[in-house]
Amino acid sequence: GKPLLSINDMSIVFTSPDEPDIEAVRQVDLTLTPGKTLALVGESGCGKSVTARAVLRLLDKNADIRTGEIVYEAEGGAVDVVRLKPDSLAMRAIRGAQISMIFQEPMSSLSPVHTIGNQIDEIIVLHERLTQKQARERTVSLLDQVGIPGARERANAYPFELSGGLRQRAMIAMALACTPKLLIADEPTTALDVTTQAQILDLLRQLQDDFGMAMLFITHDLGVVAEVADDIAVMYLGDVVEQGDVFEVFKAPKHPYTQALMSSVPRLQRKSERTRLTPIKGTVPSPKDRPVGCAFTSRCPHAFAPCPTIRPERTPVSEGHVARCHLLTHTKEEALA
Ligand code: SF4
Ligand code: MG
Repeated sequence: GKPLLSINDMSIVFTSPDEPDIEAVRQVDLTLTPGKTLALVGESGCGKSVTARAVLRLLDKNADIRTGEIVYEAEGGAVDVVRLKPDSLAMRAIRGAQISMIFQEPMSSLSPVHTIGNQIDEIIVLHERLTQKQARERTVSLLDQVGIPGARERANAYPFELSGGLRQRAMIAMALACTPKLLIADEPTTALDVTTQAQILDLLRQLQDDFGMAMLFITHDLGVVAEVADDIAVMYLGDVVEQGDVFEVFKAPKHPYTQALMSSVPRLQRKSERTRLTPIKGTVPSPKDRPVGCAFTSRCPHAFAPCPTIRPERTPVSEGHVARCHLLTHTKEEALA
């Protein structure tokens, strides 16, 4: 399908007055398509959340989008989100209404001092010309849609009066209040028990079918990827090292980091099995110590001459499957030399 949002060549640096800039995200290219889910995968600190927050222009003050564009195909025409001021009217019209986000911890988006119904009503009234009463009707039907029993009464509950699973559902209802075109989910099931996790994933899949929205799903759990994703992008230390169709990448991972992740997950195919990315030998270096060449050099069992100093190009592996690794552009003899 036609892309809804394209991130092209985006780099983000963290600045600080007395230290050199740190490149947190390096020349990332990602595409989101209506009705499809892209999983952004990697260990904590690899730049997944920063990438997602850039799309909503919710970055901290010290984070600067240095290069690239984030092209959102709005109804009135394409908009480069990078050119909008974070607190501008145009950005606020997109954020929360056309692109919304859910988090691991619902309390980061729900206010503890207002009922969930009032919070959802408020978003609807803010973005759409509806009366309070009409907004409440929409709120109740949303709460019902996300599987909250007794939605009309539960709308009057405060977040602390709900279980963790119901709170997560309430946050999802809030994110869907204005029927977003893109839902960004940042580890939305990580804090939940296995049963609730499975229910929330089912719910998100079903809502995607109903609403046809694109989804950017951030996770470090390859079991979740297998269940929800159409496409996958694997990040390591700010780089997308491999990306493509989820079956292609799972079947034939080409980047040594992806290969290590896959081999650390036993029987990925078994849906019931919850799996975590077990860390690969060695630790992720600090972004300050990242080699100028391939980010994975210090942990890669195949590292060879060009790796520490020359950055591998995005290299096509098959249709829609690309990876950044010198092994793809060098002969075996060169790699062993
Ligand atoms: Fe390993 Fe070199 Fe490929 Fe990086 S470019 S993943 S260090 S072989
Ligand atoms: Mg994160």
